[in-house]
Amino acid sequence: MATARASASVNTSAKVVAVNITDEVRRALRAAALRQGIAVVSAPHTTCSVCVNEDEAGLKDDLTRMAALLTAAVEPQGGFRHDRIDNNARAHLTAVLVGSSATVPIVDGELALGTWQSVFLLEMDGPRTRTVTMTFLGD
Ligand code: ZN
Repeated sequence: MATARASASVNTSAKVVAVNITDEVRRALRAAALRQGIAVVSAPHTTCSVCVNEDEAGLKDDLTRMAALLTAAVEPQGGFRHDRIDNNARAHLTAVLVGSSATVPIVDGELALGTWQSVFLLEMDGPRTRTVTMTFLGD
């Protein structure tokens, strides 16, 4: 079994935004030249996430609103404690809920995504330059 790693920089344009990074992952997979296996896409950050979903404008907007709603549901009276440090507890908590990585099968040298699936970096504390790491395992 072979292993390959790659990384890409992703500039996010807003405080909360979903960025389609599927092309970056496909480029890195081509360079890795694996035919069968898995791709693990992760973000080494604590206030953004990686997820797989549909690249549709309304849904991307819904994703950003979901981030606000999820954290509003658990906000304690008096606010989040972490906000006393750098005022971004919602971003951290959403990152915990959505997760920092996504795993995608590799079949015949391609990402085995469904017709409507794309890989996203979900920014929750931008705008920033983020790093996405890709680990490919297989043959
Ligand atoms: Zn923080």
